[in-house]
Amino acid sequence: MRKVAVYPGSFDPITKGHINIIERVCKLFDQVIVLIAENPQKKTTFTVSEREAMIATIFQSFPNVKVDHTSGLTLDYVRENNADVLVRGLRAATDFEYEFQIMSANRIIAPEIETIFLMTSNEYTFVSSSIVKEIFFGGADVSTLVPKVVIDALAKKKR
Ligand code: ADP
Repeated sequence: MRKVAVYPGSFDPITKGHINIIERVCKLFDQVIVLIAENPQKKTTFTVSEREAMIATIFQSFPNVKVDHTSGLTLDYVRENNADVLVRGLRAATDFEYEFQIMSANRIIAPEIETIFLMTSNEYTFVSSSIVKEIFFGGADVSTLVPKVVIDALAKKKR
């Protein structure tokens, strides 16, 4: 049976840490849906369509990676799209506390949906979208942290 994984997040913007997780999930599932979870309360640097376009460009040669967005609950999206699991990445102990809380809440709402966690690869343990923006807008090089398409998009936001 075809197995579909949903990898939700803000991806504001996508980093090489996220990309590494997606590439690894691709090998485990038949399809990976990178889901941009819209949160009107969260002020983002990039619009949903800008974030979606960057991810689509990066994974254009991956037939089993799809990008989508939702303004609703991630769990509803998983159900409506007949996906099998949710994927989250873990960097450090601090991620664990938050992720454990979300996973536990999700389990009450939708016990049939399993969440799996992938540990970050060693070189990306400190990489987050906000660190990338801090470094870039501070004037330093982020080419080891994000692909070129993201650097170009960041450059357009530079004041
Ligand atoms: P959210 O706002 O939902 O945390 P993010 O875009 O920050 O969205 O992250 C999406 C997912 O990717 C989360 O599970 C997060 O822990 C994971 N993640 C973020 N950066 C990395 C990284 N460098 N390595 C592995 N996982 C990561």
